[in-house]
Amino acid sequence: MISSFDPWQSSLCTCSQKLTFNPYTGCDHKCVYCYASSYIVGFNECKPKKDLLERLRHEAPKLKGELVSVSNSSDPYPRVEQYTGLTRRCLEILVESKCRIQIITKSNLVVRDDDLLKQVPSTVAFTIITNDNQLAKTLEPNAPLPSQRLSAAEDLINQGIPVSVRIDPIIPFINDQPQELIKILAAIGVKHITSSTYKVKPDNWKRLSTVLPDVAEKLEPLYFKEGERVGGNILLHRDVRMKILKNIRDLVDVEGLKFGCCREGLERLNTASCDGSWLLSKVGGGGV
Ligand code: SF4
Repeated sequence: MISSFDPWQSSLCTCSQKLTFNPYTGCDHKCVYCYASSYIVGFNECKPKKDLLERLRHEAPKLKGELVSVSNSSDPYPRVEQYTGLTRRCLEILVESKCRIQIITKSNLVVRDDDLLKQVPSTVAFTIITNDNQLAKTLEPNAPLPSQRLSAAEDLINQGIPVSVRIDPIIPFINDQPQELIKILAAIGVKHITSSTYKVKPDNWKRLSTVLPDVAEKLEPLYFKEGERVGGNILLHRDVRMKILKNIRDLVDVEGLKFGCCREGLERLNTASCDGSWLLSKVGGGGV
């Protein structure tokens, strides 16, 4: 249930050691670009893990203050969470066991659990790939709007819970010039940005081509002729990825924030631990 973080054994991962825990299998946000959907049949039928609370109650007391990342294969706040409250009950158990917690989400519902997050060293990473609500509705149809996530981020920051933002994925011709978003994030007090370019998998490419055919037409040569295959993914050519991410790193630098890129093989661009976990060292009682 709680396991070592090892994202599909990717040799490109530069995360420091941490544990991971997913309350749900699948996710109902239905993001067009989702990578996890290619691993699980019926991914959008979001289901709680079997015997979730019993198993967690058994495992969590054995931990010794490790960092637990919730979640990496699905969102811990899918739409059903507002009725089930399961993630909240899991957090109660993790807090009782004095774990350090990193939440990764696209939902403003995380604010509901701020009372728990304040009891242990915690950080929240919101994925926000654009500040354009309309565009987000096309790409992330069931997720809360970016404007709601930004308000939630500001709320948590004002309560002393450090927040990072994942501008991930960056898709050329869609969101590869995020100056405005980065300025907004800096203004509300976000301290770290993690970014990564879009990686094509057969199912996410099919969805992207359906909702944004004009963009897919422009992306096709960049990925399928000039791109490179890494594992089961097709990436943009390394030089193109370097150019895009260096530009974002420079924009982030100008605003005085830290930057990390995720699974790109370009870690020399990083100015802090890629996943923003360094923010926990700013929180009482925790070190990374
Ligand atoms: S929130 Fe994450 S796991 Fe859920 S559909 Fe979107 S990309 Fe996939």
